Amino acid sequence: MAVMTHAFARLQTANYGDLTAAQQDRFDALMREADTAGTGTAYNAAMVDAALVAGLPVPASKDIARCSCYTDAGGCGCDLIFDSHQDGVVVTAVNDPGFNLSQLQCPTCGHDHPRPIAD
Ligand SMILES: [Zn+2]
Ligand SMILES: [Zn+2]
Repeated sequence: MAVMTHAFARLQTANYGDLTAAQQDRFDALMREADTAGTGTAYNAAMVDAALVAGLPVPASKDIARCSCYTDAGGCGCDLIFDSHQDGVVVTAVNDPGFNLSQLQCPTCGHDHPRPIAD
């Protein structure tokens, strides 16, 4: 159980759509890098760089995700970039073998229209 204080209650997020095209390309490349980096420092480095490109303060978890509510995936079009270790995140697809990243919904989407993985 995480200890929450008022000082940390306001979570920092960013929106993919607010980034420039160049930032989006760089963010996508870094997330692909993190996805295929295996475990260890290369993964963390890619995640930290991705957070910085998105203008997101690097979370303590060093793990960020873009909401999986892509319009072309039938989602609501949410493009939130967020700390993937916060409460309320919903896993909509687990990572494939050899890849690091699962598909995640942000807490708002996970609350409003969750699409959890079906076993
Ligand atoms: Zn969302
Ligand atoms: Zn959504």
